[in-house]
Amino acid sequence: MKRFAQVILKTANADIDRVFDYEIPLELISSMEVGVRVSVPFGPKNTRTEGYVVGFSDSPGVDENKIKMVIGVLDRYPVFSEETIRLSRWMKKKYYTTLTQCLQTVMPAGVGIRNEVRLIGFNVPKEELENEKSRLKLMESRIGQLFVIEFIEKFGPSEASEIKRRLKISDSPIKTLIKRGILKEEIKQKRRPVFNSVKTEQKKIELTKEQNFALEAVNAPSDKPVLIHGVTGSGKTEIYLKAIENVISKGKEAIVLVPEISLTPQLSQRFFERFGNAAAINHSRMSPGERIEVWQKAKNKEISIVIGPRSAVFAPFENIGIIIIDEEHEGSYISENTPKYDAREVAEYRCRNGGKVVYGTATPSIKTYTRALNGEIDLVKLKNRPFNREMPVTEIVDMRQELAFGNRSIFSRRLYDEIKYNLERNMQTILFINRRGYSTFISCRKCGHVMMCKRCNVSYTYHSHDNILRCHYCGQTASVPEICPECGSKYIKYFGTGTQKVEEEVKRFFPSAVVLRMDMDTTSKKNSHRDILSEFGKGNADILIGTQMIAKGHDFPKVTLVGVIAADISLNTGDYRSGETTFQLITQVSGRAGRDMLAGKVVIQTYNPDNYIINLAAKSDYESFYEKEIAIRKTMGYPPFTNLFSALIFGERENEVIDEANRLSYILEKNNGDEKFMILGPSPAVISKINDEYRWRIFIKGNDENDLRDFVVNCVNEHRKGRCRRVTVNISLNPQSIV
Ligand code: ADP
Ligand code: ZN
Ligand code: ZN
Repeated sequence: MKRFAQVILKTANADIDRVFDYEIPLELISSMEVGVRVSVPFGPKNTRTEGYVVGFSDSPGVDENKIKMVIGVLDRYPVFSEETIRLSRWMKKKYYTTLTQCLQTVMPAGVGIRNEVRLIGFNVPKEELENEKSRLKLMESRIGQLFVIEFIEKFGPSEASEIKRRLKISDSPIKTLIKRGILKEEIKQKRRPVFNSVKTEQKKIELTKEQNFALEAVNAPSDKPVLIHGVTGSGKTEIYLKAIENVISKGKEAIVLVPEISLTPQLSQRFFERFGNAAAINHSRMSPGERIEVWQKAKNKEISIVIGPRSAVFAPFENIGIIIIDEEHEGSYISENTPKYDAREVAEYRCRNGGKVVYGTATPSIKTYTRALNGEIDLVKLKNRPFNREMPVTEIVDMRQELAFGNRSIFSRRLYDEIKYNLERNMQTILFINRRGYSTFISCRKCGHVMMCKRCNVSYTYHSHDNILRCHYCGQTASVPEICPECGSKYIKYFGTGTQKVEEEVKRFFPSAVVLRMDMDTTSKKNSHRDILSEFGKGNADILIGTQMIAKGHDFPKVTLVGVIAADISLNTGDYRSGETTFQLITQVSGRAGRDMLAGKVVIQTYNPDNYIINLAAKSDYESFYEKEIAIRKTMGYPPFTNLFSALIFGERENEVIDEANRLSYILEKNNGDEKFMILGPSPAVISKINDEYRWRIFIKGNDENDLRDFVVNCVNEHRKGRCRRVTVNISLNPQSIV
């Protein structure tokens, strides 16, 4: 009886994103498994195409005479499981994309790059080899074969590609030698050390009462997720470690998601100390081979804990006991590539049959906290740091008064005094400014003209290091004008502050201090994050200046002062989430002060000292912040009260973009006969041009997420037919930021 494989083709084309049946030739039946990749003919020209086997059948869905044959099997072991296929089907619907794209996302990056080497070595004893060499020496046309033998004698068994490259020869001498039985090919698994740490002696930590209470909630048999809402430094990580111990002792597996692994070396270190080689890290800076190795170890049950950023949520464990999502509020849990999955949602899906999802943060996202208040998530709180270590003392400084007093520097008198005092007693300081570069924008004092990037509708940022204006959206640079291009006035003013300016000012006021700066400009090299943090952690610098990169989970015992240079920066970004982001940033960065036995101090500088967000963040009063914020969201009809779809329409020609935006809007309106959804726009996006592409936006609001998604996806599909090819439409549900 014939057998047929159900194959999904690896191509992004949405029109062929379905199962195709292929007949399995007899000789391939034994190597066929769900989850292997195959090579199949496709289309009128029978182009060789890669595909994924998702199932089998005895009778194909179409006429048997039209069925084509599988050409070959590409993997010796499956690269995904039945569970992965279910997960991909769910993702396809949830994130409105193709099944093939979902399958590619859940596979370890770089599948297809073999984790094995084929080494060419000798197949005959030494004497015979000598004879062979003497014979070859006599035949000039066989000189290539001689070189190959000599090469292997010298370097040992080697990869064919290596031999070819070094000897600058073709395949044929190697092939001939193999055919003649002089050489043979051996397959060896590549081995790489994936984790470098061993279990070390641990200090015994007794959980506090609060921590124990939280741990009980985590261990409870309820299938709801748990939100641990604990102030910074309240010992959440200790709870994670204990919960994982418990899960592992039952023979189950754990996944720990962190916002960005390179920013949290200390956290992963703590997992290695506790679990040694049972834990492995998986992150984007590892090579594909290294990542595949982690995946294989997870599949083969050689490890039981995977730690990593959002993609670690796909670790191929079969018996997940717990998925921990640290710093739950972080935007990086949502993928910016298609499928735009939310690792938190994927985690809950993967735990639907008995695993536990644990969210931990000092500043829950509005969405997650709302779900907790609605009873969808169990909520536990840690209100204190262990041993009643004090929360840092915070102080808000009104920068308008500084100006009135005649202080034009970026440091208020309070902050200046505190830095000076901290330097004198040899303690460390963190200065936080949520903007890189030097000044926000430069403008003319006389006419107010602001220097803008010509390709993007945004103002240039001044970078003092190379004395240049740079666009942070497209990278375009321009020189600093001597006179205003609009009115010719000589009075050009620099507004705002960035990390570079703070660095310069620190050096001016505190010339003896050792300063480190951490932002996108100083961390582009591979290990620079780690280097900067480790220098600071070792106490080799007095002051660390940085963007939100320094706001996350670090634990530096000698930091007793945190200065927030300009708390207002993230407040007015034109985004409904700006309040939430500002609260999170200030709270998180303040939490870096006084982590150890030493008391901490936080100075927050602002031009809006009465702003409730800044005041509540200073007090770490999340609950009051939430109440205010949720009231605003309700009045404005923002998520979580409604779901908001954004459709971004962009392209190089403005008139085409506008036409397509109008056409999409027309289709939306037409299909919205009963006015179930609210359609806003089209209108130019907040940033109406990026990189020479014009951007228009339509917002679609609705109550039920699934209804809304179906509606928008159907309309966009209808709109795709006959759409101008130079215009692209991107849709996203409740996007992180709207610019
Ligand atoms: P969080 O993850 O909430 O920021 P951590 O787990 O990093 O907090 O804890 C902060 C510090 O307190 C760490 O140095 C940790 O080792 C210590 N700590 C946490 N819980 C306890 C405890 N029960 N006993 C002693 N030290 C603790
Ligand atoms: Zn001017
Ligand atoms: Zn630009």
